[in-house]
Amino acid sequence: MILNEEEKKVILDSIRDVNDFPKPGIVFKDITTLLNNKEAFQVLMNHLESRYKSYNLDYIAGIDSRGFIFGAALADRLGIGFVPVRKKGKLPGTTICEKYELEYGFDEVEIHIDAFNNQIGARVLLMDDLIATGGTAVAASRLVVDTNANLIEVCFLLNLEFLNGVKRVEEIAPVYSLLNI
Ligand code: AMP
Repeated sequence: MILNEEEKKVILDSIRDVNDFPKPGIVFKDITTLLNNKEAFQVLMNHLESRYKSYNLDYIAGIDSRGFIFGAALADRLGIGFVPVRKKGKLPGTTICEKYELEYGFDEVEIHIDAFNNQIGARVLLMDDLIATGGTAVAASRLVVDTNANLIEVCFLLNLEFLNGVKRVEEIAPVYSLLNI
């Protein structure tokens, strides 16, 4: 199930570019203007639902924090559970964590060790709004795999193609990005 050109345009036009945020030189892709646009949000969710309804998924995992919004909405549409992959220090239960490199320094993401109810081979889709270098998604993918779940696919709304992040994630699981820019 591929997004048609008209649907692509509705979604892309709803995402706002904010220059020099959070620092000079970065063009931040602001998805709040997609979320408050009922037509664009519905086109997006209808597409995701039609793509993933045949995947026989058990859970959606979403990456902190915008992956939570799309991931939880899709989990509800598919009638399955949702699991947050959070930045370090936010999850209250026993966690496993994965460090990854940023432009300057390191960051860490965590998942509850029993996030998928200890179901070995649980079929999981991992979601985030955007892939840039791929560092965050690689770390989150490793966490899903380390819980003994079956990472079926990693899904992004936006792929900043010139940074080649998708290649890194594809070493772990298949990747689907709706909009390659
Ligand atoms: P990366 O680990 O480099 O792939 O960065 C991906 C994470 O940073 C995602 O969670 C994105 O939401 C966020 N991110 C990175 N670059 C941007 C950008 N230009 N606009 C919006 N979000 C971004």
